[in-house]
Amino acid sequence: MFDIGVNLTSTQFGKDAQQVVERACAAGVTGILITGTNAQQSEAASHLARQNAGFCWSTAGVHPHDASSWCDDVAQHIHQLAVRQEVVAIGECGLDFNRNFSTPAQQEKAFSDQLALAAELNLPVFLHCREAHARFAALLAPWLDKLPAAVVHCFTGTAEELQGCLALGLSIGITGWVCDERRGLQLRALLPQIPIDRLLLETDAPYLLPRDLHPKPASRRNEPCFLPHIVRQVAAWRGEEPEWLGKKTDENARRLFRLV
Ligand SMILES: [Zn+2]
Repeated sequence: MFDIGVNLTSTQFGKDAQQVVERACAAGVTGILITGTNAQQSEAASHLARQNAGFCWSTAGVHPHDASSWCDDVAQHIHQLAVRQEVVAIGECGLDFNRNFSTPAQQEKAFSDQLALAAELNLPVFLHCREAHARFAALLAPWLDKLPAAVVHCFTGTAEELQGCLALGLSIGITGWVCDERRGLQLRALLPQIPIDRLLLETDAPYLLPRDLHPKPASRRNEPCFLPHIVRQVAAWRGEEPEWLGKKTDENARRLFRLV
């Protein structure tokens, strides 16, 4: 089973990132995609991926929260990172109108420029969309026939938004958000609608510790070693065998990000 979303450069992993990778491996995780969220973090993500070549890969990009940092220098830096062997996607990029840490205009500019970069370099995109589906789809659609693949990570949208993403040809990343009995029930009901070849699984660690994980770590920090729990739960809610689902989603990640 492959974890397509780990924020391993988070300060929460500052002291033990290597042990976190080793615990994931021991728990049966077969690969990790480390998320880059700005130029500096993307550089650090690439470095961690290199240290764990063959098990970890990384993305290079600027998250909508960091879109105010987008400028020519940052674009050039992301471009330089994106040609490295371990960097397999542009992202995380997209729109987040839930918190607007960067203005919508800054977010749209950074997103569009990164889609153009991914098309130029023929790289898949790792996408973030929160409360911005209509603008997200409008900006993304013209690029899709120029991109090798696209995954909308940590999908938490509505049934209509899921159908919209599937119609665009996107793959769907599901996190432990779906394990939350307060806010994850709507998403849980949608799980069977995702075609198996478009489904990817992720922890989004250190965030989104699954609420139904028992026992919970004292730190409340999520880790990729908890991916098997998400695989089990998603398999149960889709009516599938966990081993089969883990294998299928691992194959999907390797095909989508063209991992060798
Ligand atoms: Zn995200």
